[in-house]
Amino acid sequence: MHRDTRIVHAGYRKTGEPGPFLAGPQFSSTYTSPGDPSQHELTYGRFHNPTWTAWEDALRALEGGDVVAFASGMAAVSAVFGVTLRPGDVLVLPSDCYYSIRRMAAAWLAAIGVEVRLVPTGGSGQFEALAGARLLWIETPTNPMLDVCDIRALSEAAAGAGTLVAVDNTTATPYLQQPLALGATFVVASDTKAMSGHSDLLLGHVGTADPQRADALRLWRTQHGAIPGPMEVWLAHRSLPTLPLRVNRQCSTAEQLAEFLAARSDVAAVHYPGLTTHPRRDIAGRQMQRFGTIVSFDLGTRARAETFLGALSLVREATSFGGVHSIAERRARWGGDAVSEGFIRFSVGCEAPEDVIADVAAALARVKP
Ligand code: PLP
Repeated sequence: MHRDTRIVHAGYRKTGEPGPFLAGPQFSSTYTSPGDPSQHELTYGRFHNPTWTAWEDALRALEGGDVVAFASGMAAVSAVFGVTLRPGDVLVLPSDCYYSIRRMAAAWLAAIGVEVRLVPTGGSGQFEALAGARLLWIETPTNPMLDVCDIRALSEAAAGAGTLVAVDNTTATPYLQQPLALGATFVVASDTKAMSGHSDLLLGHVGTADPQRADALRLWRTQHGAIPGPMEVWLAHRSLPTLPLRVNRQCSTAEQLAEFLAARSDVAAVHYPGLTTHPRRDIAGRQMQRFGTIVSFDLGTRARAETFLGALSLVREATSFGGVHSIAERRARWGGDAVSEGFIRFSVGCEAPEDVIADVAAALARVKP
């Protein structure tokens, strides 16, 4: 069967099995479980929940490994750090990855004696930094610059150096890129973004093909209480069957928007892995099924970017990405990223492409040269 068909049915009750297609969220902090707890499948809400299990089964089909769901993307990231890194270990981290991860590493990991080596995603820096490292962290395409690196080549080099590999796959989603099949030890994602796709919840997950590492992640979740809410998990699962439809539409519009922006002289730079001008388009083409739902571009100055954002009428000014509604923001307003004051991260939604592009064109027309 086509992968899209399998995703529509992933984790749902089998055809022919009586009952709802997807059972509702199970809200229970405790379960009737007399006597020996090991004799019961369900005992306490921090240990397990059938709503999580259905969602994790569905994600297993997409990731090609065991999956553990977490309360947010950052909870998933913390769990991977927590089960792999000890004082004295070395973490190789992209200097251009999601800024909250860099900030957490600088504060928390550095404080417990983990050495954090920051290297850019592009070029050979990640290969050169591997010597003696316990964990290589990869993010591709990066947020927000959309730079790309070669997951397979880095995983092979890491295996040779005895280094574990974790790929933050948030911007791509497992629909567009499957890091475990490319050799990564862990795939990590914020499901707050395109995976759930409706800008109404926070969620994350970690996948791994190693059952012992999956057990360690589950234990981490239980002991640290980094558990997802059943309602959030159920909403995400409810949204999963439309993932192929949503992401394909978003990618098509993103491709058109990137071409449109790249052809304009009033836009300083356009970042999109599918553009022929992207320095690592060939790598993206090899490891991604399509080039993603985000387009980043530079309007040069803060004033031009703010005028542009203020002039949009369909596209909302908001942070995050991957949802069905197009949103854009001036990334420098947060600090933390090495981007110009006029840098815009644009998350393409599911509106008709011509309406998104017309809104961008009308807003650009209001920006002074
Ligand atoms: N990883 C990436 C690449 C992200 O962009 C984000 C959030 O924007 C996260 C991880 C963290 O996810 P969450 O906000 O769900 O905790």
